[in-house]
Amino acid sequence: MSPPAIRAVIAPVTPLQQNCTLVWCAKTMKAAIIDPGGEVPRLMGALDQYGLTLEKIWITHGHLDHAGATAQLKALTGAVIEGPHRDDAPLIAGIPESGARFGMPDARSFEPDRWLDDGDRVTLGETEFEVYHCPGHTPGHVVFFHREARFAQVGDVLFQGSIG
Ligand SMILES: [Zn+2]
Repeated sequence: MSPPAIRAVIAPVTPLQQNCTLVWCAKTMKAAIIDPGGEVPRLMGALDQYGLTLEKIWITHGHLDHAGATAQLKALTGAVIEGPHRDDAPLIAGIPESGARFGMPDARSFEPDRWLDDGDRVTLGETEFEVYHCPGHTPGHVVFFHREARFAQVGDVLFQGSIG
């Protein structure tokens, strides 16, 4: 058996305890933070702890608790922002307003480097993930899926049954 190509840890962030995921390519140690809702210093500490370089910021959807710290993380690391689907653009534009309402005044809106669409693929180090557009919870919600590792970051989408 070959070792898994990817590894992942979960860190609950924000007063809403959203599950932010740190995932990385085991060979290159290049990482993606999926759904950085907040607590950037803690996320930076986790990168240090595992010896990782942040390559990507992946966003499943434009809600405050999933995307509120994206701009801050981008400014600190220069990582490439991928996702969500373009249909969440109005939600992302509204992040500062919902941040003010939910006690997260530092939350900012942002412009992704790449909007994602159903069937897209995103790379991380030497690995590749599939992208699914799953509207419902929000119009532009996407899911990141690594087939061999049976890893799925589903954001706030609930699946009937299971995938993989
Ligand atoms: Zn949500």
